[in-house]
Amino acid sequence: MKADLRGAGVRHLAMAAPSGASDRASVRRANLGLVLRLLRDAGARPRTRIAAETGLPKATITNLIAELVQNGLVREGRTERDGSIGRPGLTVELDGRAICGIGVEINVDYLSLIALNLRGDVIVERRVPLDVPGTEAAVVLDTTAAVIRETLDTLRARGARAVGVTLAAPGVIDPDTGVVGYAPNIGWRQVAALDGLRDRLGPGAPPLGMENDAKLGAVAEYLLASAADIHDLIYVTGETGVGGGIISGGQLLRGSAGFAGEIGHMPLDPTGFPCACGRRGCWETMVGLSALLRFAADPDDVVRDPAVDLEQRLADLRDRAASGDPRTLGALDRVADSLGLGLALLADVLNPRAIVLGGHFAYFDDFLLERVRSVLDERVMAPDVGGCEIMLSTLGFTAAARGGAYHALEPVYRDPSGTTAALG
Ligand SMILES: [Zn+2]
Repeated sequence: MKADLRGAGVRHLAMAAPSGASDRASVRRANLGLVLRLLRDAGARPRTRIAAETGLPKATITNLIAELVQNGLVREGRTERDGSIGRPGLTVELDGRAICGIGVEINVDYLSLIALNLRGDVIVERRVPLDVPGTEAAVVLDTTAAVIRETLDTLRARGARAVGVTLAAPGVIDPDTGVVGYAPNIGWRQVAALDGLRDRLGPGAPPLGMENDAKLGAVAEYLLASAADIHDLIYVTGETGVGGGIISGGQLLRGSAGFAGEIGHMPLDPTGFPCACGRRGCWETMVGLSALLRFAADPDDVVRDPAVDLEQRLADLRDRAASGDPRTLGALDRVADSLGLGLALLADVLNPRAIVLGGHFAYFDDFLLERVRSVLDERVMAPDVGGCEIMLSTLGFTAAARGGAYHALEPVYRDPSGTTAALG
């Protein structure tokens, strides 16, 4: 689906609770952030429209935009006729080209890093193959710190600066303490990841944060979808593990203790295959990458060789499907049926406007989608699947790192003048 950037919505994703203070300075901070978020989520627009959409007086908007321009966070761009009558007005758009957020994803067989500037342009992108479960956590953190350090040097050399680094980690994590509590697919239990990175990066490093990888993937997807006025979505990661990120009414759903979205372990076949979590028949044993590869190929087949780049193996498998290979098509049908079953359950419970399939699912287009859609049509209680569209992610395996980079830029939205003042 192609997003219609013109018909943009005006709800905004807040990744942290707003401050409770209500003095003048904090109201101004909140208003500056409101305008910035609107420009991020809905795109460039004239001042008059910003005033209408935020409900703030035009004089206030003029004043706020002057401060944002002065701080290099927005700029006035081309003229645009707002409607068919009246004078064309200057549009205001995000700037902040020198201000970056860094997201780093630790996955089962790679580290992925993305640095985005405030406009959302990719400034640095790195992917380092790494056998994370087979490597000591301390060594994984060494490598992660080295990649971050190189990126900070690259940004500095280009006159840009990072305002934050967010680690996207699989499994159950505590964003406040920076501890990965339990991530069975990479074999981590109680790893103090953020403290470890802080020690390695030293005192000059930007602030470090952490969030679950699927939740950050959902954030990245939502920033695309919100421009098409979609505010309720489920993002499903597809890799060895299957995770979910849920955006409900424009807000990331964390649940009472942060476990919301652990959809990979829904017990859909209690007598099925053993799962990395120690149970049997979790959803990810039916639809995860390992399941697909096991159904599609023998153990000595090249598509099951972890030494070969994953994207290459998936491209191979897609070619086999395209050439009509019965075993590959059978494997995809089997995964599609189980995928549809779990998604129907989620659609019944959450009634999302969109479900975005990422990771390996996104490689198989109609070989997977048509069948998934027909299972949903058949199983979801609401008519027309409750208005839910099933889409493929366009972010590939970068969604979590990208969401991490957006997350790392959050301080700019919370305090637009503070961040740039700190940048000196
Ligand atoms: Zn499980």
